[in-house]
Parts: sequence; C-alpha cells; structure tokens
Amino acid sequence: IMTEPAGASRVAIELIDIRKAFGAYAAIDRLNLTIKAGEFFTFLGPSGCGKTTTLRMIAGFEEPTSGRLLLDGKEVTGVPAHQRNVNTVFQSYALFPHLNVGENVGFGLSVKGVAKDEIRERVKAALESVHMAHAIDRKPSALSGGQQQRIALVRALINRPSVLLLDEPFGALDLKLRREMQMEVKEMQRRLGITFIFVTHDQEEALTMSDRIAVMNNGVVQQVAGPVDLYERPANRFTAGFIGDMNLIEARIAGRTGDRFTFDAAGSRIDFPCDLPLQPGDPCTLAIRPEALHFVEGDAGGSVRFPGTIIDAVYIGTDTVYGLALADGSRITARVRNGGDQPIPKPGAPGILACAPSAIRLLTQ
Ligand code: ATP
Repeated sequence: IMTEPAGASRVAIELIDIRKAFGAYAAIDRLNLTIKAGEFFTFLGPSGCGKTTTLRMIAGFEEPTSGRLLLDGKEVTGVPAHQRNVNTVFQSYALFPHLNVGENVGFGLSVKGVAKDEIRERVKAALESVHMAHAIDRKPSALSGGQQQRIALVRALINRPSVLLLDEPFGALDLKLRREMQMEVKEMQRRLGITFIFVTHDQEEALTMSDRIAVMNNGVVQQVAGPVDLYERPANRFTAGFIGDMNLIEARIAGRTGDRFTFDAAGSRIDFPCDLPLQPGDPCTLAIRPEALHFVEGDAGGSVRFPGTIIDAVYIGTDTVYGLALADGSRITARVRNGGDQPIPKPGAPGILACAPSAIRLLTQ
C-alpha cells in the first residue's frame, strides 16, 4: 500500500519517564522507552500489567499523569488522538456492520474528502494485498474471523499512519488461524516498513513476531530485548519465569575459591564458576531451561549435578518431560529427547540431573 524505508534508525516514539495513575494506583511507572521507525515492537506481560494503558497513551486515548511522549520527535502530550499520525487495530475488529467491505476500508478516506476514483483504486489495491479483493461487496458478517481481521488491518493502514497500534488483534481467533495471521501480519509489516506496536500476553506470539519486546509486570518494564536475548539472557526472575519454561532454583552463596562459587541450592551443594560480585550468604536464583538438563550416573566430570527422585515422566512425542524432586522437596523439570542413550530411571527411583555450568543463568533480582 505504501513504502517507507525499513530499518532506518530514525526514532518513531519516545516515552520519557511516563507515569499513569488511576486514583492512587500507578498503572504505569517510570516508563522510559525509545521505539525506532520501522520496528515491530511488542509489549508483553500478564493481564493487568499495563500494556493496553501504554498503547492508549501512545494513541492519545489516555493522557500520562506525568512524563513526556514524543512521536516523530514532536511532543504530543495533550494532542488529541485524531491529530496523531497513529492508527489502532483492536481485538474486536470494530468493522461497521451495515457497510460492505469496500466501504469499510474506504471509510477513513471518504471522511478525509479523498476523491471517489482514488478511493476505489486504493481500496482495491489494499484488499488485493491481503487477498480479499473478491469480498469487496460483502458485509463483514459474511466473513470469517480471520477475514474480518484482515479487513480491519487494511482499513487501519489505508490512511497511511506512520505507526500502527495493535491491541491483542488475534485474541478472538483459534490457534491455527492465529498462527497464520501472525505470519501474514509480520510479512505485511516487513513489506510496508511501518512501525508496528503490538500488545499481547502470549509470549510465543511475541517471540515469533517482534524485532524487540518490552516485558512488563505491575506497570514496570522488566526488560527490553530482541527475542533471542530475552530467551537466552533473561535479566531477572520475572522475565526468566515468563518467557518459555524455566526451572528457577533458589540458592545461597556458601563460599568461594578463586573464580568458583559454591551454592547451597535446593538442599544440595553445587559449585560452578561465576564472575558476579557476590558474597557468601547472598541469595540468588539459578535459572535453567528444562532442555539443558540430562540424566547422568555417578560423577559427570565438569557438569553441575542435581540428585533427587523421579516423580513423573510425561511422553510428549519427540521428548519426554521428567519431574525430579530435590532434597528440599522442590521440583525441577527436564525435557529429554526420546531415543537417546541417557540412563533414564523409572518414576519413584533416585536419579541425577545435570547440566553444563554455562547453561545456568544466575539471577540476583
Ligand atoms: P489485559 O491484558 O488484561 O488487557 P493490560 O496489561 O492491558 O491487561 P491495562 O488494561 O493497561 O492492563 O490495565 C493496567 C492496570 O490499570 C489494571 O490494574 C487496570 O485495572 C487498571 N486500569 C486500567 N484502566 C483503568 C481505568 N480507566 N480506571 C481505573 N483503573 C484502570
């Protein structure tokens, strides 16, 4: 429909020290973020963490209590929604039921007074870009959920906003359609080079689609990073627990020899190298992905070992997921590929899970 150079490092949106309070309750606190032009940027977090409030402030439906908001380098605090070069797609498609598809898509252009011929051309091209030209005369009610969402998308894009805001746009779709739409929208964003700001509580959706993700909890951004960094290098316990499956094992520094620390963790004493400035007695959390763990017998040289008792084994096709009760009663989970040659104990029997020291991420906050 339109083009803008993608990947340019121009800043599209700056959120500076934003706070949003409803009464005494701070829905958003200390929000500082820069979103680049052409980025696919996602706000991810559990229900109530403040994602929608953040999006509504960018759109202009909600004003920050304090702080500054810049769009394309210009302060927009106090500028009404319709004067911002921003458009929004909601989970409920909000199509006009009495207008046909072509009229829905062209609505914004006719309000602006664009000539009829130009509207017809642009609507046709927009519908062709999502393979929906055949439906131009149909009413929204005659379309599937996925088709309605495509129409809502092209309707939002036809006004050529520099930023498109999407609030859980696939929330009403079944899983298969949701996956298809994720790919389609990602591809559309790449093609158009428009800044997309996406809100979801679904971490898989966020990892699939985004260039960068802001993980939020209780109104505070926990980490901003690309999908790989977020998965492999979570900055704190919240992100580690929220992105993918993760074992979080509470530990305490017991002692130190050279660059090796000894940890008391879940009733066992383990040691591995670590370069964080920690002191004996300090609490910390060991974060380990289930797929990084495997079974060993006896002393597996160089690896970190967790002895315990197998409590369950769940076959999930390519892998089996094992639960191991550790000495203090806490549980860790290992995801092991089927058909390998690891010594796998039966449920109820003692077993030792191990991983490379490099697979452990030490978290102190
Ligand atoms: P969800 O995924 O459930 O939509 P969210 O992360 O988008 O959640 P928000 O809708 O931004 O969360 O809400 C953040 C917090 O602010 C919630 O605790 C909510 O109850 C509160 N809140 C939002 N809007 C208002 C309002 N108009 N008045 C009072 N409280 C509000």
